[in-house]
Formats: sequence, C-alpha cells, structure tokens
Amino acid sequence: MALPNWRFVSRTRPPEDERGPAFWFIFQGDKLLVRPAGEAAEVPQVTHPSQIGIVPIRQSYLGYLEDGRSPQIDCYGAEVAAGASVPEGMVADGLRQLYPIIGEQMFGLAGRAVQVVAWDRTHQYCGQCGTPAEDMPGERAKRCPACGLVSYPRLSPAIIIAVVRHTDDGRRLLMARNHRFPPGRFSVIAGYVEPGETLEECAEREVGEEVGIRIKNPRYFGSQPWPFPNSLMVGFTAEYDGGEIRLEESEIAEAGWFAADALPGLPPKMSIARRLIDWFAAGDPVERI
Ligand SMILES: [Zn+2]
Repeated sequence: MALPNWRFVSRTRPPEDERGPAFWFIFQGDKLLVRPAGEAAEVPQVTHPSQIGIVPIRQSYLGYLEDGRSPQIDCYGAEVAAGASVPEGMVADGLRQLYPIIGEQMFGLAGRAVQVVAWDRTHQYCGQCGTPAEDMPGERAKRCPACGLVSYPRLSPAIIIAVVRHTDDGRRLLMARNHRFPPGRFSVIAGYVEPGETLEECAEREVGEEVGIRIKNPRYFGSQPWPFPNSLMVGFTAEYDGGEIRLEESEIAEAGWFAADALPGLPPKMSIARRLIDWFAAGDPVERI
C-alpha cells in the first residue's frame, strides 16, 4: 500500500485515544512479516497483531503517518519469538528482498522499525551495572534506575564517495569491488567513520586506505539510513588529487576508473551508492562538482 502524499512523524508515546488500524512492522529476527499480494506485499494494518494471530514479545511505538486531511495512521515496531509460527497467508523475509515489493516508503519505515526493535531487545539491561533499564518518557532512550546510565539507539555513520577524475579521454569514476560483493559488481568507496573523525577526514582516509588515491574538494551529496544493521550512509562527491590505484587486498578485490558508458555491474537501485553512480553517469562533473 503506497501513501504518496503522507509524511511520517516520529513519536515515542502512543496516542491515548483509539485511532483505528495501525501499520505493524513485526520482525522475527531481522525478517519482516508481510502478506504477499500479487507482485507486491503488504505490511499488516490492524488494531493489534492479536487480530491476525500474532503475539509480540515486545513492541515499540514509532510515530504516525499523516496527510493533513485523513485520520493519522499509527506505526508500531514489534518482535515475535524466534520459534513462533508465521500466520497462514504471511511470510517472513529480509528487508533487502522486500524492498522492490513493499516500496520505498514502507521500506523506510521498516528500516526504522527494525533498528528500534533491535535496540529495544539488546538494551533491556544497563550496560554498566546490569540493572533492568527503563524507557525514558518522551524520548527514544532508556535509563538505568540504579546508576543513571542513559542509552540511545546506536547509529553507525559511514561515508560513501564518488571520486571523479578528468582524463584526456573524458571523465572517469573510481569504483572498487569488495571481496564480499557478488561476482562482477563494483561500487563507489565506502567506510565507517572513526571516533573523533570528521566526515571529510573519513572520506580522505577511506579512499587512501582502500585504493591508495588522494582526493580533493569533497562535497556533501545526500544521505540514506541503511538498516543493515544500523548505518547512516553520508554521500560525498570529490575530485581526484593524485596517486595510483593500490589495493588494500584484505578488503578490495579489484578497483578501476570507469567511463559513464562502460560501467561494470552496479549496486541495486535502493542504495545511495547507485544514486551517486547515476549522478556521475547523468551529469557533467566539471560543472557539477
Ligand atoms: Zn546501571
């Protein structure tokens, strides 16, 4: 079900009044329960999962969808036990597999839900003294009643960067193939931000470490939550500043400079990696970076 003009409003406290059926993003491990419907799949919209025979072991209110006219639609994340049977007519599947069939909007909400549910599961006890933690009212946070330690959902920022080089033969994009990628697939360089590092420093370090290239003029491109398991991808473009390709062989299998009309196998459309590559393929970087 696509709700194109609806926006999501994040909240932690559920409404006191009954507002009709809500979207329930119910996970078994990291798999989302959906109801296949032809080529698509639907996230259940019910007042409570018990209506479809599901008994959550924990649940979190996420917020609501609104379009300014219709009644708001609440959204919940929930978890069922690993051994619980999936109700008739439903399937449990990974978010990557579900992306093309549940659509961008539901994928975004499911990505939120899976991270909140996982954080709730893994922060039931204080990480410092082991006392059962309590939800903090009005915040997505838990507080230890014994020692006061507060914990928030973990986010792991990572940079992802399109490095463009101008050669006598035209523009080229720096792409690499990680050992973990399927055969033939390349992508732009990415890596996690270290404590104490700026995003720009991270971009310079990652490109230097992974392929031995120096960059200049890093510019912000856009960002994307990436719930596998809790990244926030921060996209940059940059220009080549020097160096020859030298692989960090423990991580990178191949790397090279690719022309827009001769790109290798690409990451799926859902990713900011693909948006960066499409940006390179579509535009004139001399004008645009
Ligand atoms: Zn504590």
